[in-house]
Amino acid sequence: MHELSLAWDVIEMISHEAEERRLKAIYEIRIEIGLISGVEADTFSSVLDMIRGKTILEQARIDIIRTPGKGRCSTCNLEFLMQDLFTLCPRCGSIPSSILSGKEFRVLSLQAD
Ligand SMILES: [Zn+2]
Repeated sequence: MHELSLAWDVIEMISHEAEERRLKAIYEIRIEIGLISGVEADTFSSVLDMIRGKTILEQARIDIIRTPGKGRCSTCNLEFLMQDLFTLCPRCGSIPSSILSGKEFRVLSLQAD
């Protein structure tokens, strides 16, 4: 379950940032998780809840933004929603030439004191 190590990474990264910016408390963080990033947002969120006691994120509100997967068709240029990395163009059945969104995993912002 790599969500667990990602959750630790996020806590570590934010602790580091809090130290650098001399923040005392974090009220809210927003994390963007793309739906085809390979990170299961619900799993990530419950794992983070499990381990964040006694860390800088103990009191924080965690806001998870789920970004839909979107690709552009390599043949007809149609932009289409992707349920997973193997979704083909609904118009012509080709593979996407590029993934436009949905692979994100990042901390977007944090509110702190
Ligand atoms: Zn197409």
